Amino acid sequence: MRDPALETPDAGAVQIVRNVEDLRARLAAWRLGGARIALVPTMGALHAGHMSLVTAARENADKIVMSIFVNPTQFAPTEDFAAYPRSLEADAEKFASAGGDLVFAPATETMYPEGFATMLAPGGPAEAGLEDKFRPTHFAGVATIVAKLLVQCRPDAAVFGEKDYQQLMVVERLVRDLDFETRIVAAPIVREPDGLALSSRNVYLSADERARAPRLHAALARCAEEIRKGRAVVAALKSAKAFVGTAGFVTDYLEARHAETLAAIDSAADGPMRLLVAARLGRTRLIDNLPV
Ligand code: AMP
Repeated sequence: MRDPALETPDAGAVQIVRNVEDLRARLAAWRLGGARIALVPTMGALHAGHMSLVTAARENADKIVMSIFVNPTQFAPTEDFAAYPRSLEADAEKFASAGGDLVFAPATETMYPEGFATMLAPGGPAEAGLEDKFRPTHFAGVATIVAKLLVQCRPDAAVFGEKDYQQLMVVERLVRDLDFETRIVAAPIVREPDGLALSSRNVYLSADERARAPRLHAALARCAEEIRKGRAVVAALKSAKAFVGTAGFVTDYLEARHAETLAAIDSAADGPMRLLVAARLGRTRLIDNLPV
């Protein structure tokens, strides 16, 4: 008899599992059959950026698991945890049509049961003075949930987007430091035709804000171009901040960092260099980044 917990009545071909036991049972069967497994961790509200991670996963594995979990511990009390868009059924359908195999959508109590008391304390890239400066508890939440997902799924590969560049560096460090066997695969940023990086939070933008939002990417692109042409990094960053400001953004940070260590660098010769920005447009906080 089939376990009803493994069935999904309304999500096309893909199944949704809700607890770790069912997840492990499915994955164990795949592994016995010799399948390589890739995990794509998400918070749902899927868009083409997430779908590109599924494509990258397909290149690295035979079976693809997507976790969909809006992780409370990576949100500060003042942030948008309650308002974050949730659309599990539609997400599962999109994932199925992209060739995904299994959705893991645990309840909050499954990931953080009564009495949960262990959080990771990531250092290095998690203390680079970028996102962490404005979201001081964020990466402890990210590292903890990613570690849990990797232990629960034991995937051969896990795919993360460069959209959250500091997060990607934190995850790579985590996997090295704690000896996870999973290979971390990085996927490039997917953008709208006007340059705006796809994000689940773009739905918060008003029509007017949406029209101005691409200036964030435009500022980075121009800044990178100027630095490549030899303009002083400090001057190029100053112009970029001014440009972002004229579009109505309030900038949290706009910085040039070493692409691998996230250490501050002020010359492309000390690179590889990456530009990283976080800025608020009305009530929406957008992040973006670009290689120089
Ligand atoms: P999220 O659901 O926002 O937590 O994102 C889940 C994964 O999708 C993360 O690894 C993100 O970096 C990645 N991602 C989000 N937006 C994009 C995008 N526009 N392009 C590429 N990857 C993305």
